[in-house]
Amino acid sequence: EVDWFSLASILFLLMFAPLIVYYFIMSCDQYQCSLTDPVIDLLTGNKHLSDIWNKTPPLTYRAAGIYTLWVTFQVVLYVFIPDFCHKFLPGYVGGVQEGAVTPAGVVNKYEINGLQAWIITHLLWFANAYYFHWFSPTIIFDNWIPLLWCANILGYVVSTFAMIKGYLFPTNAKDCKFTGNFFYDYMMGIEFNPRIGKWFDFKLFFNGRPGIVAWTLINLSYAAKQQELYGHITNSMILVNVLQGIYVLDFFWNEAWYLKTIDICHDHFGWYLGWGDCVWLPYLYTLQGLYLVYHPVQLCTANAMGILILGLIGYYIFRMTNHQKDLFRRTNGNCKIWGKKPEYIECSYMSVDGTRFYSKLLTSGFWGWARHFNYTGDLMGSLAYCLACGFQHILPYFYIIYMTILLTHRCLRDEHRCLSKYGKDWRRYTAAVPYRLLPGLF
Ligand code: NDP
Repeated sequence: EVDWFSLASILFLLMFAPLIVYYFIMSCDQYQCSLTDPVIDLLTGNKHLSDIWNKTPPLTYRAAGIYTLWVTFQVVLYVFIPDFCHKFLPGYVGGVQEGAVTPAGVVNKYEINGLQAWIITHLLWFANAYYFHWFSPTIIFDNWIPLLWCANILGYVVSTFAMIKGYLFPTNAKDCKFTGNFFYDYMMGIEFNPRIGKWFDFKLFFNGRPGIVAWTLINLSYAAKQQELYGHITNSMILVNVLQGIYVLDFFWNEAWYLKTIDICHDHFGWYLGWGDCVWLPYLYTLQGLYLVYHPVQLCTANAMGILILGLIGYYIFRMTNHQKDLFRRTNGNCKIWGKKPEYIECSYMSVDGTRFYSKLLTSGFWGWARHFNYTGDLMGSLAYCLACGFQHILPYFYIIYMTILLTHRCLRDEHRCLSKYGKDWRRYTAAVPYRLLPGLF
């Protein structure tokens, strides 16, 4: 059943999310990243909507060509080049890996080769920038708005295709979810793991590439633009590139672990993931770098160090918390957390076919401090990216505001799901670990 609040939120997002992305990017393009000036101009009659729209760069053949080449290249890397990184990188888990058990009891296999795709893409990027000079490294920045139209087209096409596929030829009919509400189904998806052929998995592809591989390239393009405009790259731009680069590299290093996260384990594939991965993620997660092209903030050494330390501590908490759960689940509790045997709560649940499964909820390490301390670390890192941009404008702070809403909502959504999955066992767990994000506060 879809409650009215979920429906209202979905309608709001379907109508306004594309506009929000446009507004942010347009504000940088036409108003030096001021979010208030466009509104003031419109309210005072200084400008009309048509003036802003007429100044907006249209879709171009060049952008369409770049985007098509980009997505095709990522498809080729994903589908046709089996992973070789796991053969020579110690500790890296790649190649064919199994995902979690789906509600219908299916275990999907995935070809984990994201790290390889990221490395090949970036090697080519640097080879071009320093040696071949096929195109300018500012290419992404220079075509940013025309590329936005291309990303939107792909986002809508893939979400609509996923919906039609869910009705007509689902990959696994038992893992489909039909609520009967068109908007909810379009937004949250029908199929759990839509695939084309044996290996092209929509969720893994769209979440990781083109979205997350692009993230670091977009930042590099912004840094190149700063160099072109001002003759140097500011320390804030380097900080944003480095901290977000660590986050992206971490994602690909742990891509196999990612198969066990909520996006892959619990969410169905609809507009939320399809459009979100194509448009929302590459455009709004990179706002700090974009802002720094227009405002080349140079931080004093103490501030730069403080932000770097905050970002690194946030990253450490994020990674260690995720690692502790992963280790605990992989070894079925036969491991050490902070040098001791882990404590946990035994729990059980039933799949749709009535089979009973058993599981464990960790209460040691960071998981004994709060129920989602991984989100807390993520939020600290996110705040660091924003702080690197100084305090002149609100736009670069969108990311921390958004992540706080996203992850708080995720806490509630996940806990609602876990409560219905584990019942009284979940209640025992929340009694043992009473806080969600901040011990003693929330
Ligand atoms: P988690 O990795 O916290 O996974 C939640 C699931 O873990 C629960 O549904 C439950 O699943 C299981 N679980 C919960 N508590 C315990 C416990 N105590 N012991 C063992 N298992 C437990 O959440 P996400 O998948 O949302 O996030 C993964 C990471 O990705 C986070 O660090 C998050 O910050 C990051 N992230 C980043 C985003 C971004 O846009 N930058 C967006 C979303 C996430 P089960 O049914 O298996 O018991």
